[in-house]
Amino acid sequence: MKIGTPTETFEGEARVAMTPDSALALQKLGHECVIESGAGALAGFDDASYKAAGVEVVDTTEALWSAVDVIAKVRAPSEAEVARLRDDQTLISFFNPAGNKELMEAAASKGATLIAMDMVPRISRAQKMDALSSMANIAGYRAVIEAGNNFPRFFTGQITAAGKVPPAKVLVVGAGVAGLAAIGTATSLGAITYAFDVRPEVAEQVESMGAEFVYLDFEEEQQDGSASGGYASVSSPEFREAQLAKFRELAPDMDIVITTALIPNREAPELWTEDMVAAMKPGSVIVDLAAEKGGNCKLTVPDEKIVTKNGVTIVGYTDFPSRMATQASTLYATNIRHMMTDLTPDKDGKINHNMEDDVIRGATITHAGDVTFPPPPPKVA
Ligand code: NAD
Repeated sequence: MKIGTPTETFEGEARVAMTPDSALALQKLGHECVIESGAGALAGFDDASYKAAGVEVVDTTEALWSAVDVIAKVRAPSEAEVARLRDDQTLISFFNPAGNKELMEAAASKGATLIAMDMVPRISRAQKMDALSSMANIAGYRAVIEAGNNFPRFFTGQITAAGKVPPAKVLVVGAGVAGLAAIGTATSLGAITYAFDVRPEVAEQVESMGAEFVYLDFEEEQQDGSASGGYASVSSPEFREAQLAKFRELAPDMDIVITTALIPNREAPELWTEDMVAAMKPGSVIVDLAAEKGGNCKLTVPDEKIVTKNGVTIVGYTDFPSRMATQASTLYATNIRHMMTDLTPDKDGKINHNMEDDVIRGATITHAGDVTFPPPPPKVA
């Protein structure tokens, strides 16, 4: 089969879904690789590096889409891209099917197969294809770097001839994949790091990374992630009040707050209120990784960086993985390559779209003219 990657059309997107290394691995599965000229440029991969890896470079978007059987890209396709799809083509990308129903139906009506990388079930066997985690890891790291870029002091404490410097205090709200990456980065830079999550089972992971887990004075258990496949669910009003009271207590003392709290298929919970921002010291920084879903901080402006009247910087960028395009592309292209490995079980360049396979079934959102989303729950853990 021919696998091709076009230039991303989403404004500002710098990632690319195929790298020279991933193309070499795809060719070992018996596939041929094609790329649109310039598609890897913003991620640091030029046409020559693809050619050297045996990839055919084509000059136009049209040539790319008409030449290939499988299109691998990063962002969900645009309407114009869906209009290009043929019934014998498979498109692999992030998709957000719950929020993109019309586009999914349009692709199904064209008879094309869509594989959504954000629908790969989060079971052990599929970790190598878990693009949500590989991108969240980057976002968590970059959030700390972005905070540091806007923070006017050191992270680590120092005793110098010119005086004693206190360490920065960092609070990470939400200790999922992005939050844990943020904790690891902040502690390695020498900050005193605290973390909170509604799922008490993450306390051990937080502590093993050198951060202090923030417990609430709350009678019920911290919360119940286990009820929803490891994900958080909506908190009770009483729990939420206890959480906000704890954050109010911490706000004046924190230099950097990184919020990552999300609940699947919902707007982000609002956890960092205006009065908490007002209570923070001038020069403090909030990086809101939930900005795309509305933000955890009341004052976050998605895609913008703002400075409040009392001198707190709030970063609401929604493109952290794209800001580290080389790293993000390398990891994402590897996730795609693993998906292709499972789709090519005999390594003979032929795709076997096995809908009995939990991982392939879970990620497939249109197939043979039908919308196949949502999938049934996976059979194995
Ligand atoms: P996410 O991005 O959906 O959410 C981020 C974090 O925010 C979660 O830890 C969540 O508990 C927390 N949160 C939600 N509401 C909150 C609130 N009000 N206050 C504070 N924190 C709040 O999560 P994620 O990083 O995608 O991962 C979440 C779950 O998925 C975890 O159980 C994780 O172990 C699991 N996971 C499994 C795999 C795998 O098995 N392959 C891979 C990645 C993640």
